[in-house]
Amino acid sequence: MSADLLDVLTETEDDQFVYHHFRGKTFKFDRNKVRERQNAKKVIGGFQTPELNVLPLKYAQAYQIYKQMKSNHWEPDVIDMTKDIALWTSDKLNAKERWIIEMGVGYFSAAEGIVADSVLHVIQEYLTAPELKLAALRWITEETIHTDSLIHIIGSLNIDQDMVTARFMEVPSIRAKNDFIIKYMPQLKRGLDMEILENKQKFAKALFGVSQILEGTQFYALFAMILSLHRQNKMTGVGQMFQYTLRDESQHIALGRYFFTELVKENPEVWTPDFQLELIEFMKEGVRLEKEFIHDCMPEDGIGMRREDFLDYVDFNADRRLASVDLPTLSNIKTNPFQWLDEVILLRKEKNFFETRVVEYQTSGSLKNSSENDLI
Ligand code: MN
Ligand code: FE
Repeated sequence: MSADLLDVLTETEDDQFVYHHFRGKTFKFDRNKVRERQNAKKVIGGFQTPELNVLPLKYAQAYQIYKQMKSNHWEPDVIDMTKDIALWTSDKLNAKERWIIEMGVGYFSAAEGIVADSVLHVIQEYLTAPELKLAALRWITEETIHTDSLIHIIGSLNIDQDMVTARFMEVPSIRAKNDFIIKYMPQLKRGLDMEILENKQKFAKALFGVSQILEGTQFYALFAMILSLHRQNKMTGVGQMFQYTLRDESQHIALGRYFFTELVKENPEVWTPDFQLELIEFMKEGVRLEKEFIHDCMPEDGIGMRREDFLDYVDFNADRRLASVDLPTLSNIKTNPFQWLDEVILLRKEKNFFETRVVEYQTSGSLKNSSENDLI
């Protein structure tokens, strides 16, 4: 994320104090202490106290993203499901469309939990700078909102929870997608010594895996399927929730990337050619599993979207995640097959694009300081 597009923290000083100017506020610090406090802050292995002293800020972008995430806040329960219920209980939805909704509910019920657990017990645990922890805590909160939105859908549509969530845990390509990321977590939960290079790399890999592969690549095909129904004015309450979820995910991708790149900057020994190759292979495996999932689970030609486009979309997303951390890309796909989806993510909607009125929860300041290219 380029710094010039975000609020930048600037510093002034006088004989007595150092002043940080950020987001229209001025923070005053003791000259003798501020530098020391900032220098003690590190992504991992820094000075830690239980007080969560966010000030003085060192990682201003993390705080900026935290504020952005909060200004995007939404509440699943107030999303009107009346039309969804009417359609769901009618015969106007075909089997393929039902399958997509059920799969979306089933897959994300598991996946949102996996992300929350990983951020709570792994990512947030190893971060030491308070403003980074603060942003990670908000990340976890948003995953709980996503989980709650699925509960809202399940309850509103009167879906048999076991049928949907259990069934989709049993689809081999979905199981494989979940296991792919879960398998790295148990050893990271054991409190590894972050002074050791190998452990730093394990943590960096987990950060990359959760934010760039799982959230940044593997979530997107199913998002596209559900939002394509939304675009056809089908299951619009569900679609609206997924729209907000997707906007949140774009912040998680940006935040995870920020943690990752700052970690590598502070620990350049991590960034060996072997480690870079390991990450590329990691992404390759994520892409392979995602394509398997699409072949397995996507109804062919049922929803006005081509399977080929979904496969290209996986490559396109994988490549933009790789490029964003200066890793080489894997495919020749240079254009987004679902350009409309980026528009949806950024909520730059054409008039009458959706039949339902989209409730805007965004409060002032949202998105205007963010680089749009970084948020899709
Ligand atoms: Mn989520
Ligand atoms: Fe997320």
